[in-house]
Amino acid sequence: MSNSLPVVAVASLGGTISMTPSDAAGGVVPTLDATQLARSVPGLSEVATITTASIRQLPSASLRYDDLMEVLAWAEQQIAAGAVGVVLTQGTDTLEETAFLLDLFWKLPAPLILTGAMRAPQAAGADGPANLLSAVRTAIHPDSAGRGVLVVMNDTAHYARWVSKGDSLAVQAFVSLDGGVAARLVEGRPTFFHAAPVRAQPLARPVRAWPKVALLSAVLGDEGELAELAVRAGYEAVVIAAQGAGHVSFGFAERIGELTQKVPVVIASRAAGGSTASQTYGYVGAEIDLVRRGAVMSGWLSGLKSRLLVTALLASGVAPGAVTEALTNWSKLTRR
Ligand code: GLU
Repeated sequence: MSNSLPVVAVASLGGTISMTPSDAAGGVVPTLDATQLARSVPGLSEVATITTASIRQLPSASLRYDDLMEVLAWAEQQIAAGAVGVVLTQGTDTLEETAFLLDLFWKLPAPLILTGAMRAPQAAGADGPANLLSAVRTAIHPDSAGRGVLVVMNDTAHYARWVSKGDSLAVQAFVSLDGGVAARLVEGRPTFFHAAPVRAQPLARPVRAWPKVALLSAVLGDEGELAELAVRAGYEAVVIAAQGAGHVSFGFAERIGELTQKVPVVIASRAAGGSTASQTYGYVGAEIDLVRRGAVMSGWLSGLKSRLLVTALLASGVAPGAVTEALTNWSKLTRR
């Protein structure tokens, strides 16, 4: 280790990258901490001076919003203390969500990078060490600055805005449909394909308890009963992953008209890629009708990410009546 090497702070949150077999559990469970993970990567200490913190040891489905706010504060402290970038290791199941939520609040030009593994450390061809090395190499590269939160997996860097988990178990699990990947790593260096994107103003830190925001898929035969039940149960907003370019049944459309009197209703597409429409279809339950009924179309933002954006807007003090405008402005600012 040389003192002239850049400092990268690595924090572990759990996930497959940290999992080892447990007889009691009958499968792998999170056990390794950030120091153990960093030590397992051949050549890492020649690339950067690594500082480590073990913040959580969880399967990623059990990470909570407040865990992520703690991580955010820790990451900002690391940059203030001289780290050029921060790397978080976590489970891949919620990586597209945690990356996006952190990105909404990340205000520094320094890169905040998330990585994980699809194969546990003992598996043949475990990908965790390679992913951690690539994440650190991306963190120290000057071209990574100003791009917000990046996900680095399988020698590819993705923007938080576009990344999604496209495969449940394959090593090539992550894709960036529509927006495209940010960079590929070749011989240890990231090549970014475009200039850093315009980013929306980071949100103010939460000023109230995290709201419950429902995400519901519109499906064949669906009249929107679950959306109504969610609002009755106290959900403060509803995001509908609707059919095609943002369409629902006649009955669902009527319910949406009633629900928008009470809570913000966002219409995304349930398709894996593509945008919602705004001025193509004129039938009941299509975009023109749903907007007339008070809903807002999410554009290119997926249902998963729309739900997080609405959640974060409400948590950061945006009034429910201002969510539609805030979401539209956010989309315009990010030019998507
Ligand atoms: N496939 C997941 C992972 O890569 C399972 C566990 C989790 O998300 O924590 O970590």
